[in-house]
Amino acid sequence: MYKERSGGGGGGSSRSEILNGAADRKKLDKSSPSTSRAFASTAKPQLLDVESETDSEEGSDVSGSEGDDDTSWISWFCNLRGNDFFCEVDEDYIQDDFNLCGLSGQVPYYDYALDLILDVESSNSEMFTEEQNELVESAAEMLYGLIHVRYILTTKGMAAMTEKYKNCDFGRCPRVFCCGQSCLPVGQSDIPRSSTVKIYCPKCEDISYPRSKFQGNIDGAYFGTTFPHLFLMTYGNLKPQKPTQKYVPRIFGFKVHKP
Ligand SMILES: [Zn+2]
Repeated sequence: MYKERSGGGGGGSSRSEILNGAADRKKLDKSSPSTSRAFASTAKPQLLDVESETDSEEGSDVSGSEGDDDTSWISWFCNLRGNDFFCEVDEDYIQDDFNLCGLSGQVPYYDYALDLILDVESSNSEMFTEEQNELVESAAEMLYGLIHVRYILTTKGMAAMTEKYKNCDFGRCPRVFCCGQSCLPVGQSDIPRSSTVKIYCPKCEDISYPRSKFQGNIDGAYFGTTFPHLFLMTYGNLKPQKPTQKYVPRIFGFKVHKP
């Protein structure tokens, strides 16, 4: 039913096919990948267009839950191409109003978006126009992101992110002397729609762009400025030693003198 999820990118044609049918809201909403990615597309430098290299990896990542109609919205969302930095937030965490404090003012269509995330069938959903459905989808994605940034600072959330860090799901540092160090996601701002997610290398303590353009379009505020640093403070044993080697520029074998 959700085959389009592995189609990646736009998801346009499959989405409209479903819209033409008498699809229920759940199917409808699940047919579209991350809608707010477009906002960041201009911020991504050209050098990131290394799709071909990462495509095959991602293809295998998203195929996991194929063919399972009982997939929750959360699992579905986290398996969309490019959304592999997100961990699955516990439904118990989302159901606790205390954890969502302040979010209703930040996210439009808040109640509908929350129902969608929790797979609660709403009686009003059939009254929605296509346009309204898209707005709710987009709101659900933002709401999930804003819940996610809080969740990954909790014990359970950090544990979920530990697994992903150990699997190198966030990618590796591109610097040669970091020797393929596994990275952690980080935002440069906690304000939504300010900048896209980056990866932080615990070895050189610097940030870089994610390798896949799909990951590179995700909002950095859904990971936040605090996460990798609190994570490494909490799991001190997972913090690597600083690189021992440093690159030395040479001309005909001689070190280049700095003026
Ligand atoms: Zn590094």
